[in-house]
Amino acid sequence: MDKLIYRFNNQGSQSSFNSKNILGGKGANLAQMAKLGLPVPPGFTISTKVCEDFYKNNKKISKKIFQQVKKEIKIIEKISKKKFGDLSNPLLVSVRSGSKVSMPGMMDTILNLGLNDKTVIALKNKTSNGRFAKDSYRRLIQMYSNVVLGIESYFFEELIDNYKLTKGVIQDTELEEDDWDGLINNFKEVVKEKTRKNFPQDVNEQLQGAISAVFSSWNSKRAKTYRRINSIPDHWGTAVNIQTMVFGNMGDDCATGVAFTRNPSTGKKEVFGEYLINAQGEDVVAGTRTPKNLLSMNKSMSKIFQQLKKIFNLLENKYKDMQDIEFTVENNQLWMLQTRSGKRTARAAIKIAVDMVQEKLISSKEAVLRVDPNILDTLLHPTLDEKAEKKIIASGLPASPGAASGKVTFSTDEAERLKEQQQNAILVRVETSPEDINGMHAASGILTARGGMTSHAAVIARGMGKPCVSGSSEIKIDYENKLFKSGNYVIKAGEIITIDGGSGKVMLGKVPTVKPDMSGDFSKIMTWADKYRKLKVRTNSETPADTKIAREFGAEGIGLCRTEHMFFDEKRIISVRQMILSKTLEDRKKALAKLLPYQRNDFIEIFKIMNGLPVTVRLLDPPLHEFLPKTDKDIEDIAKELNISNQNIKSRIIELHEQNPMLGHRGCRLGISFPEIYQMQCQAIFEALAECKKKKIKPVIPEIMIPLVSTASEIKILRSLVKKTAEEIKKIHSIKIKYYVGTMIELPRAALRAKDIAKYADFFSFGTNDLTQTTFGISRDDSGKFLNDYVENNIFYEDPFVSIDERGVGELIKIATERGRMQKKSLKLGICGEHGGDPASIEFCEKAKLNYVSCSPYRVPIARLAAAQAYLKKKK
Ligand code: ADP
Ligand code: MG
Ligand code: MG
Repeated sequence: MDKLIYRFNNQGSQSSFNSKNILGGKGANLAQMAKLGLPVPPGFTISTKVCEDFYKNNKKISKKIFQQVKKEIKIIEKISKKKFGDLSNPLLVSVRSGSKVSMPGMMDTILNLGLNDKTVIALKNKTSNGRFAKDSYRRLIQMYSNVVLGIESYFFEELIDNYKLTKGVIQDTELEEDDWDGLINNFKEVVKEKTRKNFPQDVNEQLQGAISAVFSSWNSKRAKTYRRINSIPDHWGTAVNIQTMVFGNMGDDCATGVAFTRNPSTGKKEVFGEYLINAQGEDVVAGTRTPKNLLSMNKSMSKIFQQLKKIFNLLENKYKDMQDIEFTVENNQLWMLQTRSGKRTARAAIKIAVDMVQEKLISSKEAVLRVDPNILDTLLHPTLDEKAEKKIIASGLPASPGAASGKVTFSTDEAERLKEQQQNAILVRVETSPEDINGMHAASGILTARGGMTSHAAVIARGMGKPCVSGSSEIKIDYENKLFKSGNYVIKAGEIITIDGGSGKVMLGKVPTVKPDMSGDFSKIMTWADKYRKLKVRTNSETPADTKIAREFGAEGIGLCRTEHMFFDEKRIISVRQMILSKTLEDRKKALAKLLPYQRNDFIEIFKIMNGLPVTVRLLDPPLHEFLPKTDKDIEDIAKELNISNQNIKSRIIELHEQNPMLGHRGCRLGISFPEIYQMQCQAIFEALAECKKKKIKPVIPEIMIPLVSTASEIKILRSLVKKTAEEIKKIHSIKIKYYVGTMIELPRAALRAKDIAKYADFFSFGTNDLTQTTFGISRDDSGKFLNDYVENNIFYEDPFVSIDERGVGELIKIATERGRMQKKSLKLGICGEHGGDPASIEFCEKAKLNYVSCSPYRVPIARLAAAQAYLKKKK
């Protein structure tokens, strides 16, 4: 049979035993501290296995287990020379939760268990401290009632507050024994009224109730929610720790406190913490009294302070990480109650990791593993000055981090105009569409009233590294009068607001920001990461500005250059529309000829910046109707330009309408129907190469990518189109041209037929956005309506558009990788799309043996770090 109960300081058989899975984090660390010889009040841990049994057994603790618990209590009694429920020298215990990973404040703890009407008198006599005994008893009734009996704590707090008012005192410490006596009676009445039973006087009943309640708290609503947000599996369960009470509330030579071994906000190596004299347990964090800075303990209890500092060092040396510590002082004796890895800001995480390498506590590999890539995000964008005053007028979803201020504007044109005048704009839209791309580019930040974390605005803004607050339903936009309302505020176009895309807040006026600093410790961690990673990191980028940023962030190539984004420019869109509306091949070619020089210049610019690094260019992908005129004025403009009637254009728009554009006439299907479009794009790429050669720019080897392929025939035909175009340019310019042709794998059929497709492809790039949509048959634009229900019902563990679905989409990637490489050993494999910047998905890419990941510029550092971690974890 499995062992179910473990003593903290058992020097016998399990002295080397230390497993968080079984003991939970708190229990494992208490045992570890005891083993190190630190002063830990005696106790034991009921393992997480028992939690499992508890739920199988209809939420009951079996007799057998409770017998074992009682046996362990006997052992504590021997060590402490006290007795549980004894009428002269009673033992009191705490009953504490503790799961594998810490879930601060999510589960329950009960202190002072073992007190009742009789033992409280014994405690008073034994300690000659009536006030302390009664204070402890009332705390037990409060906690027990709340945790075990389910009575809201405010019933008790209200009684205390009212009593203090009538007595005219402010602090709990000003209440005396008699006062607590009265309150204890009132508390017991509340219990009687709410449960129709007396507060349990049998200490074993108390113990059993407390253990059950701690196990039950694993499935409390807040614990479940916390687990979902932090991706903690439901089946882990919690352990229960039962520990001899030590008292920080016995007088002025007693205290309780919490401490960090380094500053968790800056990472600086210094004592950081707070404590309270004559207090117990949660008093420090509960805010009932204002705690003191731990440094001042050097004066009030200097011996203890020195002892604590030594323990800090010892624990850091043992755990090789910054510790978050809880302690209590009872009559000038220090007791350690908890230690664990402390939570910290991104800045602190990096500083601590780098410092610890310098202190030779950890290796640089370990340092790379220590920093959560996701939190780097907060360091890469300007942030609001913490000290500045802020007037919040609305809030929405924190869609893309960073802070920005600017003039409110409701249109793309206006945003661009402001940009020309070197002014900052915040583009405010109900929601954004591809037509707003230029406005989004020109603006410093984006605010939308509708749309979620994966809405158009959110995805594009993250891609651009622009701050964005989306789905702020409080704001009501009035385009006609150029204003928006939020509560009582009316904000007109031209007024200045500030948005914080990290918190989702919208503020009035300009709130000052601070620029990110990426030198120093940050660059050290990144250098180490680069040393340890195998995956290359590229970027998704199509504008010179983004491409420059990505290179500064360390991108090693472009993994996805979406050519359609180059078409929305005001000067070009008219030719694009002309091209689409053309009925004859001849007309279409005329329009394409106008677009050619623009495209060529785009590529020259990008090749220049990439300076010889690989660039993957995706040929036109979206359905054509996305480029069509939407407003009457647009229609009129284009009608004039083309010298045809409005009606003509309107009917062409109707012709082009699709029921399901995601699955419609797009991707390589356009190239098959209108080869002249792809031909023009290839010509632009190759002419750009010729031009670069003339200008002595380091040659780029372009990787021409055909989207939405599902059959080998498609790529076979289009590959020969690319080749034909290349041959022509070679001849005209009499130069050599090196290039690759490959495809996106974004349809299940393409993954399955990868072996045939690889015959005609030099590389595959997994377009995981579309591949996820088509594998699940879920459209990303509509999934918002039910995704939450799916996560809630544990159908999806996570949004598959955020982290790759390894079991389904991942399997298709594995199949395509295997079959593709079977055909062509040298096949280059990468991933583009939002998943390319998601650490969990990057870990999968490393396992799947891809060559590179590609992500938006601002996620490049995150991907570099995540790729290093993925490789180091795989090797472990
Ligand atoms: P949490 O996980 O929410 O921090 P804990 O189990 O750590 O809950 O308990 C909260 C507080 O109760 C501790 O910080 C400590 O101050 C106090 N406490 C717990 N056990 C004891 C004990 N045996 N003696 C004295 N105080 C205790
Ligand atoms: Mg704690
Ligand atoms: Mg796609």
